[in-house]
This record gives sequence, structure tokens and C-alpha cells, in this order.
Amino acid sequence: MFRAIVLESTSDGVVAAVRELDDGELPAGEVTIDVEHSTVNYKDGLAYRGAPGVVRSYPIVPGVDLAGTVTASDDPRWVPGDRVVVTGWRMGERFWGGHAERARVRADWIVRLPETIDTRTAMAVGTAGLTAMLGVLALERLGLTPDAGAVVVTGASGGVGSVAISLLAGRGFEVLAVTGRPAEEPYLRGLGAHGIIDRAELGGPVRPLESVRWAGAIDAVGGPILAHVLAATAYDGVVAACGLAASMELPTSVAPFILRGVTLTGIESVEAPLDRRVVAWARLADELDRDALEAMTTVVALGDTPGIAREILDGRVRGRVVVDTRA
Ligand code: NDP
Repeated sequence: MFRAIVLESTSDGVVAAVRELDDGELPAGEVTIDVEHSTVNYKDGLAYRGAPGVVRSYPIVPGVDLAGTVTASDDPRWVPGDRVVVTGWRMGERFWGGHAERARVRADWIVRLPETIDTRTAMAVGTAGLTAMLGVLALERLGLTPDAGAVVVTGASGGVGSVAISLLAGRGFEVLAVTGRPAEEPYLRGLGAHGIIDRAELGGPVRPLESVRWAGAIDAVGGPILAHVLAATAYDGVVAACGLAASMELPTSVAPFILRGVTLTGIESVEAPLDRRVVAWARLADELDRDALEAMTTVVALGDTPGIAREILDGRVRGRVVVDTRA
């Protein structure tokens, strides 16, 4: 038997409860994992709320990420005792996810944890941190270097934003943090932000081009803020769009692209190919400042997860949340 959070669809909406499940109830898959830690991402918040288009069928165990130890495997690549991390692949949406003490997943989804990353650290990173690293890798691939100018990070106090600030500062970039929570300035500067921008400043009408303020961006919010970011990006700058915490819309013009040669690139972590994930986790192991990661991490018990999932959609969660599945 193992404990898991189960989401059910009822006439009162989606409800979450901690249940005792039997191994026989686990879904099909080649590899069984004792989940030690999971996390709460923005998408988990959408799943717990019952937002349209996230969870495909109920009942489901939510949790888009998990880290733990393999206990059984029908695939020769994995043996009991392997320490592993699994993120995305529609876990917690279409497939059972990580908000449980045990999970069964497809062998192709699994990444071996780098030696220096334990399961708690892996989930402090989670999908949000992996996405931030994929954003940094994209800026690098498209030629952005610290001497080009500052990089702006939106949704700065959130999971993607917090990890992105730390990674970029560690690589020598001047980082500007856009936040709606000015009280978090000490936290953001502690992660490595050199300057703070009130998000209200980027909320008004967008002109096709604005005065240049930065050379690149990692954007977690979309909407008018992303449009302002594009309009104020320098010649040959690079903007990585990865989120929609503000809006799915992008009210921009072609001006930044055709008059300043700005590149807008998309970041996707859920279906990202395995080789890209392995590179990203290796870079996270080498580069992510562990003190900064600790400063942005809160640990909660499995039973506290539904409450946190509700708070994350309201922008009230700071940094990253780790779920200790055994607590
Ligand atoms: P969080 O909730 O941790 O952070 C989002 C942050 O965005 C908030 O902390 C807040 O930062 C800011 N924010 C919230 N609401 C608004 C608003 N209305 N207008 C402007 N800013 C707002 O989420 P994550 O960091 O985990 O995820 C961020 C986004 O990235 C989400 O949209 C998520 O779906 C997406 N995402 C995409 C992935 C991909 O593969 N492409 C993977 C992971 C996440 P502050 O208070 O500092 O302003």
C-alpha cells in the first residue's frame, strides 16, 4: 500500500484527497519508482483547480514531476536502486503523476540523477527550474553573451523566474527582475538580480518600439508584459518565452523582429527530448547555486499539497515548493 493524492471530478468540481492505494492500482508502465520528493508547479495548480484542458480523465494522481528510487523495472536501462527524476510527459494531466509515495512510468521518460543532485534538490529544481535552464540554453544557443547587455526576467518571484535569475547571474549576466511584489526585492537581489522593475511599469499600451533597455529576456508571463519586453529589446537581442502567468495573448507587432532583428524563441519542457533534458540536468548540477536554491525552496508534506496548489495560481507562492511525499 502507498499514499497518494487522488483528484476526482464531482458535481462540486474537482476534489483532492489523500488515499491509500494498492500497488495493483498503479497504471501500466515499465518502471516502478518509490517517490521521495515531488513539487508543485503552476500546471499542478491548474490541475487541482480543474482548469479546462489540463486533466483528461479522472480519477488521477496529480503532480507533473517526481524524483525517487527505482524499485522494479521491466526495462534493461533501469534497475532497482537507480536514483531518477521524471518531469513532464503529461504526468498529472493524462498519466498518473508524482503526488504519491509510489509511481509507475514509461522507461523512456526517465533521467538518471546526476551524482551531486539528491531527490529533494531535483524537486527544488523541478519542471520550473528545468524550464529556466532550457531558457538559458536557448539564449546561449542564439548567441547572447553577458557583454551584449542586461537580461530581463519576468514573473521573477515565481519558480521559473527565481531559478532563471540565479542561473543567469551565475553566468555573469546583469539581471533585471520584473515583479508585482516589490516587497520581494531583498529576495530577488539575494538570488542575483541587479535591478528590480515593477511589473505595472510594463502593463500600459505597447508601442511598436521602445527605448532599448535590455539585450535578452526569459519571460514567464506572456501578454502585454512580453510585448513591452520585445519592444525594448536591443538590436539582435533574444527573448525566450516560456509561460503565460499573465496571459496567453501576445499583443505585439513585427517591429522588434524586422527593425531590430530580435529573436523570439519558445521554450517547451513537457515533451522536450531526452538528450536535451540530460544536458540541462548536467548543467543544473554544475551551475545552480545551492544556497540560492535553498533560499527559494519551501518543503511541504503530501497532505499540504492541495492548499499550495491553490495558492500558486494566485501568484502567492514564492520560488519553489518541494513535496516530501513521506511526510
Ligand atoms: P509561479 O506561479 O511560480 O510564478 C509565476 C509568477 O508570475 C508569479 O510568481 C508572479 O511573479 C508572476 N505573475 C503571476 N500572475 C501574474 C500576472 N497576472 N501578471 C504578471 N505576472 C504575474 O509559476 P512558474 O514559475 O512555475 O511558471 C510560470 C509560467 O511558466 C506559468 O505560466 C507556467 O505555466 C509556465 N511554464 C511553462 C513551462 C514550459 O514548458 N513552457 C514549464 C513550466 C512553467 P511576481 O510576483 O514576481 O510578479
